Amino acid sequence: MNRVIARKLAANVSRLKVRQEYFCTDAAARVSGFYRGQSSQEHKEKNDFANNIQQYDIAIVGGGMVGMALACSLASMPLTKHLNVAIIDGNPALGSRVSLNKGDPPDARVSTVTPATISLFKDVGAWQYIEQNRHAYFDKMQVWDYTGLGYTRYNARDINKEVLGCVVENKVLHDSLLSCIETSDFQKTFHPSRLTSMTLHPSSSSMGMDSTLLKTPSSSLGHLAKLELSDGKSIFAKLVVGADGGKSRVRELAGFKTTGWNYSQDAVICTVEHSVENQCAWQRFLPAGPIALLPMGNNFSNIVWTMNPKEAMNRKLMNEDDFVKDTNAALDYGYGPHPKSSLLEMGDMFSWLRGDVTLSATEGFEVPPKVVKLASERMVFPLSLKHANDYASKHVVLIGDAAHTVHPLAGQGVNMGFGDALALSRVIAEGIAVGIDIGEVTMLKKYEEERKRENIMMMAILDGFQKAYSVDFGPLNLLRAAVLHGANYISPLKRNIISYASGDQRLPLFS
Ligand SMILES: Cc1cc2nc3c(=O)[nH]c(=O)nc-3n(C[C@H](O)[C@H](O)[C@H](O)COP(=O)(O)OP(=O)(O)OC[C@H]3O[C@@H](n4cnc5c(N)ncnc54)[C@H](O)[C@@H]3O)c2cc1C
Repeated sequence: MNRVIARKLAANVSRLKVRQEYFCTDAAARVSGFYRGQSSQEHKEKNDFANNIQQYDIAIVGGGMVGMALACSLASMPLTKHLNVAIIDGNPALGSRVSLNKGDPPDARVSTVTPATISLFKDVGAWQYIEQNRHAYFDKMQVWDYTGLGYTRYNARDINKEVLGCVVENKVLHDSLLSCIETSDFQKTFHPSRLTSMTLHPSSSSMGMDSTLLKTPSSSLGHLAKLELSDGKSIFAKLVVGADGGKSRVRELAGFKTTGWNYSQDAVICTVEHSVENQCAWQRFLPAGPIALLPMGNNFSNIVWTMNPKEAMNRKLMNEDDFVKDTNAALDYGYGPHPKSSLLEMGDMFSWLRGDVTLSATEGFEVPPKVVKLASERMVFPLSLKHANDYASKHVVLIGDAAHTVHPLAGQGVNMGFGDALALSRVIAEGIAVGIDIGEVTMLKKYEEERKRENIMMMAILDGFQKAYSVDFGPLNLLRAAVLHGANYISPLKRNIISYASGDQRLPLFS
């Protein structure tokens, strides 16, 4: 039985190699053989046209963190590393890379990556490059409420792990993926350009192509998606992956509808400096939204502070000293009292529910380290929830923010995107193993089904949190405090929350 499967795999891999040769070699040379009997001018025109045809197995539109993670994942798997892939993105970082240095001023844009994402980066060979740059693992987290009614502490050792996550600048994550792909022998072509239009089921007329060319047996372009780029080039691909972010052009051109809403909240982000190193991730819920202080290493932390758009603009423009003062108030003495450390006794309320006590349940409330200086520009991002009703149709599939954008309150957005990239590359590999065309909708729907389930669950939880903390109302404040206490003292629940937030796909329920 195993021998049969092995034979099938080998046959499909060699078939793939033949197919890819066809894609990669000069299509024009073969196409020109079909023009016997034509005038030399006609022949030349067709030859020129064919020379410009670029065909790929996969066109990844958007070479951001998620698009590049897909490329790296494909490059790392035996069944997909032979694919011929185009990466389309006008971002100059893809073309002319600036070498990063650990001593560079810290960037305002960072991501908290989960242990599941760290494993993915290790598997594809990209984590080694992160380790050469600034990054900060953290093993503790504290979440509390401005009312002073409750707090929760998490510790990686509660679930027998070393870390809860790692904070990495987005440019470092991106650069590590670029290094990884550049040092592989993966057949990739970067197009420093933007997608302008796309024909998914081209017919000769809609593509504006010469019908004789389409009829030629070697050019079966009619079965491919056609992408037109802002530099005037046209490329063809069996599968188009939309990794082009929240305003995805691929999503729009493929006609995928979305569901979602704006939060009427903006996030102010920046990097700040302390006089001591911060080693914990902190999040305090304030009346207008949460403020997070995330460790970045070298006495730096990143701030992600959610508030209404008017306040956000004021905080972006106010002088630096006032901003630092406001930040310290938001993280410490402003808005309400500290929760009492002696709330441990209140944990007894839950003693009938909890099993063995987690390590962090015995930790008292702590005040975050004081911010002494602003260390980057301040940036403002409007926040919204958006979800594509479909992730896949024939020849096209969405990953990352193109498929879903979420509130940053739990730092899950790009982690969800990395999960998509991994799942899609696996589904493509499985398809290749059994000889399915990689643009085939049944295969792509398998990816959609797997990721939609996970992403919708995460989105519902994040949206629920956002809504629960958007209202300042006495009884609700008490309920939130009870939830925080429950999360702190009920050990099975606490372990499940940590596991789920770490990227282990279990629901945060009792187990
Ligand atoms: C304030 C804030 C804080 C956040 N913090 C976290 C966090 O801590 N942890 C976390 O997991 N997530 C976080 N996120 C979410 C995270 O930043 C996003 O989920 C992530 O950037 C999405 O990556 P992406 O590659 O899918 O899309 P993008 O980063 O938007 O990249 C899309 C790429 O597509 C390119 N592109 C766009 N249009 C075209 C086109 N027509 N043709 C070709 N290319 C195109 C762009 O140039 C870009 O390079 C945060 C978000 C915000 C706003």
